[in-house]
Amino acid sequence: MNKATCELDTLIFGGGVAGLWLLDELQRRSFRTLLIENRALGTGQTIASQGILHAGLKYALGGLLSGSAKAVGEMTDLWRRCLEGRAQPDLRGVRILSPCCYLWRTEALASMVGLTAARFGLRTPAAKVAPHERPPALARCPGEVLRVDEQVIDVGSLLSELAHRHNDRILNIADAGEVTFTVSKPGLVETVELQRADSTTVFLLKPEVVIFTAGEGNADLRRRVGLSQEAMQLRPLHMVMVRGSLPQLFGHCVDGNKTRVTITSAVDTEGRTVWQVGGEIAEQGVGRTSAELIEFARRELPSVLPAVDFTNTQWATFRINRAEGQDPHGARPEGPVWRREGSVITAWPTKLVLAPRLAELIVNSLGKPSCPDATPSPLPTAYSLQSGDRGEGQTPSPSQGEGWGEGRIALPPWEVTDEWHA
Ligand SMILES: Cc1cc2nc3c(=O)[nH]c(=O)nc-3n(C[C@H](O)[C@H](O)[C@H](O)COP(=O)(O)OP(=O)(O)OC[C@H]3O[C@@H](n4cnc5c(N)ncnc54)[C@H](O)[C@@H]3O)c2cc1C
Repeated sequence: MNKATCELDTLIFGGGVAGLWLLDELQRRSFRTLLIENRALGTGQTIASQGILHAGLKYALGGLLSGSAKAVGEMTDLWRRCLEGRAQPDLRGVRILSPCCYLWRTEALASMVGLTAARFGLRTPAAKVAPHERPPALARCPGEVLRVDEQVIDVGSLLSELAHRHNDRILNIADAGEVTFTVSKPGLVETVELQRADSTTVFLLKPEVVIFTAGEGNADLRRRVGLSQEAMQLRPLHMVMVRGSLPQLFGHCVDGNKTRVTITSAVDTEGRTVWQVGGEIAEQGVGRTSAELIEFARRELPSVLPAVDFTNTQWATFRINRAEGQDPHGARPEGPVWRREGSVITAWPTKLVLAPRLAELIVNSLGKPSCPDATPSPLPTAYSLQSGDRGEGQTPSPSQGEGWGEGRIALPPWEVTDEWHA
């Protein structure tokens, strides 16, 4: 049996946006780091997310600049610089699906109040769109339509860009490997052992700090190192998807201090436009079956978008949990949440847009790397996925790195759902 030992400053579990951004930050600051992923990168929330780099819009609907609105507003500047290659990580390879989001309302009185409040609560100003400049989907919406400089990105390309920068630091143990923690007392991890399914190779990792950024998977990881389960909350969503010959649309329909629907658009592998629909419809949809939610959505979408023709469209839904740090009232935390117990840090970004802030907070808490000039040991080839069954997932496009194979990227929900209804 081969046995190799590797000393590390930090060992990350979970390659969604939080873990990958953190990996990048730690690498740039010379920490000896590895990331372990047990499925395709981004499985769970990141690949399901709508990719909106919120400028605080959704959180300003109450009319006040809340902590959340401020936190996300500050982050959008950094994202913009990264997407333009003016800050690290250089994200020029990430596809920007839309430079902005639209904000519109229905006839309801509450929606007029909400729109006005949002306008004044935003850090990024919302500009009024002249009737002839409205996107076709919003042509017949009553009242004014606003434009907010919230960019929308393709999260698959984000995962790919972040991952391919560090493919030699990512261990994908999806197809082979067993992880065993040796813990001297709750939260004090001595070693992490990786063993191949055929038991031929054991790889012994000795990290100073173990960081869990595994989204919902944090609960199981915490249990395995003897930590309590109370740290995390799950807030479920039941999202709607519509595909067919639809116009591209990115934006929110406002009703009072709620977003009645949030719509983002993508193009699937067959060239069809797919709308992903979140907001109140997905919050309220949790208590509905898929058939009930589709029936509701078939009435709701035409009523908020009277100009759109929904004939020849297909509908589907998917359920997903938002995994967040525990809030005493079960509400969405104001910002990213992380906690250190012994040698273990558990972290949740709360929003994709806040992943850079989370990484900054964690890295700052670590001080300096123990041996800044040390060369990290190479990854054991036994654990890199050079061949064999890669299961569900997409490899990055050739333009994003030929031969890159250590961490395949999860497929978006519309590519894995086969329950579409005409
Ligand atoms: C439907 C939806 C829409 C959203 N839209 C937006 C939006 O538009 N804008 C925004 O800012 N935020 C949005 N969010 C929030 C955002 O998606 C999340 O805050 C963010 O993606 C969380 O990232 P994460 O890396 O913490 O977790 P995840 O994305 O869930 O990643 C966790 C990773 O850990 C891996 N993992 C799990 N268990 C283990 C284990 N034991 N060992 C190793 N790896 C493990 C998983 O396979 C996965 O790769 C949305 C969320 C949802 C659900």
